[in-house]
Amino acid sequence: MKYEAVIGLEVHAELLTESKIFCSCTTKFGGEPNTHVCPVCLGLPGTLPVLNKKVVEYAVRAGLALNCTIANFSKMDRKNYFYPDLPKAYQISQYDLPLCSNGYVEIEVDGKVKKIGIKRIHIEEDAGKLLHENTDGSLVDYNRAGVPLIEIVSEPDMTTPEEAYQYLTKLKNILEYTEVSDCKMQEGSLRVDTNVSVRPVGSTELGTKIELKNLNSFRAVQKALEYEIKRQIKVLEEGGTIVQETRRWNESKGITEPMRTKEEAHDYRYFPEPDLVPIIVTDEWKEEIRKSLPEMPHHKRERFIAEYGLPEYDAKIITSSKKMADFFEKCVLEYDSPKTVSNWLMGEFSRLMNETGKEIDEVPVTPQMLVKLLKLIDNGVISGSIAKTVFEEMFGTGKEPEVIVEEKGLKQIANENELREIIKKVIVENPKSVEDYKNGKEKAMGFLVGQVMKATKGKANPQLTNQILKEELSK
Ligand code: ADP
Ligand code: ZN
Ligand code: MG
Repeated sequence: MKYEAVIGLEVHAELLTESKIFCSCTTKFGGEPNTHVCPVCLGLPGTLPVLNKKVVEYAVRAGLALNCTIANFSKMDRKNYFYPDLPKAYQISQYDLPLCSNGYVEIEVDGKVKKIGIKRIHIEEDAGKLLHENTDGSLVDYNRAGVPLIEIVSEPDMTTPEEAYQYLTKLKNILEYTEVSDCKMQEGSLRVDTNVSVRPVGSTELGTKIELKNLNSFRAVQKALEYEIKRQIKVLEEGGTIVQETRRWNESKGITEPMRTKEEAHDYRYFPEPDLVPIIVTDEWKEEIRKSLPEMPHHKRERFIAEYGLPEYDAKIITSSKKMADFFEKCVLEYDSPKTVSNWLMGEFSRLMNETGKEIDEVPVTPQMLVKLLKLIDNGVISGSIAKTVFEEMFGTGKEPEVIVEEKGLKQIANENELREIIKKVIVENPKSVEDYKNGKEKAMGFLVGQVMKATKGKANPQLTNQILKEELSK
C-alpha cells in the first residue's frame, strides 16, 4: 500500500509591542532574570489584567495579511494548567472565539501555487522560562511571562516536509513584512509545533496524529518530519497502529523520541476569563488597520521585476526579507545599476550573513557604504576581487570602504610604468608560458595574468594588465 503524509503546523509568534499583554512591563528580550516583572505578570493575588490594545491591533494586522476573517466579537479564556513557569496556574488565551479565522497562505512547490489554510489565529500570553542548569534545583525567570503571542494554527493541508518548510518560510516572511513579530527562532520569538499523520493514498480520513516538539529551526522541522513520516509508515506496514502522542526531535541523533502519550494530556478546563471584557473590533478599526498594511512580498517582487528590471530569481531572493528589500531600495536610490546591487546582496552579503548568523540590520554595513564600495570599483580605485576583501572588513568592523582601502594599501595599480615593470619581470620569470602563448595557447595568457595578480596581491588593474601583457608579449 502507498501512504501519504498529512501535516498541520501550530506557530507561536511573540508580538513586537513595547509592553506586555496585560501590564506595562517591557517585552524586551533578555535582561537580568525577574527584572521585567510586576505584580500583574507575576500573577500575585488581587491583581487584574488590562488588555493592551496594540496586541489586538497587531494580531488583526497579522490576520489581515494572512487573509483571515476578523471577528467583530471575541473574548479571552482561561486555560488552566499547573507548571512553575505559569505563576497564575492558568494562561489567558482564546478558546472558542479566536480573533482571526479562515485565512490562507500561498506557497509555491514545483512551480505550482498551493493554498495552505489557516484555521485560526488567537492571542495569548507567553509563560516564563525555567532554567535547569542549576544543580541545586531549577530556577525560574518571569521576564517572558505576559509577553503577547499569537498562535497561528494551520489546517492539515500540507503533505510533504518541503511544503511545511515553504509554509513556514512564507509565514515568517509575511509576519516580518507586517512588522508584528521579529520572528527570531534563536530568541524564541517564533516557535513551531508540528502535527503529522499518515494515511493510505486515496483515503479521505485523517490518520492518528503525532505532535513533534523541540524544533529549533525550519530545517529541523523538515528533517524531523522526514524521519517521522518514514517511522509511521514502517509501523503501519509492520501491522502496528499509531497511538496519539507527543514526540521530541533529537537533533544530534536525528530521530524522534516519545515524550508523552494522550493519557498524560492535560485537561485544560477552559472557561471565559471573568476579569476581561469581550474584544470588539469595529469595521472602521479593521479598515484603518488594513490601510496601514505595507506592500506584501509578492507585490514587491513583481514591482522589483518591473521597476528595476531584476530577474525573477533575484527579485524573489531580495524580497524574501523586507529588511533586505529596503536595503536594496536605499542602494538603488544612489546607484543606478540594480543588478549589481542585487549581485552583491545575494553574493558576498548573504554569504557572510549565513556564516555569522547575522540579520541584515545587525550588520554594520549601511546602504551608503555599499554604494561607496561599488563606486570605488567603477572608478577603478579597486578591482572587483579586492572589493570582496574590503567588504569583508566592512562587514566585520563597520569601517568605511575608502578608509580600509587607504589603511591596507589596497588601491589598484593603474600606473602604466609601474605595472609594466612588474609585467616584464613576470615574463622573464615564466619563459615556458611565454613560449606556450606564442605557440597559440590562449590559456597561457590567463596564467600570466594570474602571475601578475599574484605579484601585486590582486591590485593590478585587470584591463591595463591585459593590454600591457599583450604589448610586451608581441615584442
Ligand atoms: P488539538 O485539539 O489536538 O490541538 P487541533 O484540531 O487544534 O488539535 O489541531 C492542531 C493542529 O494539528 C492543526 O495545525 C491541525 O491542522 C493539525 N492536525 C489535526 N489533525 C491532524 C492529523 N490527523 N494529521 C496531521 N495534522 C493534524
Ligand atoms: Zn508586568
Ligand atoms: Mg490545538
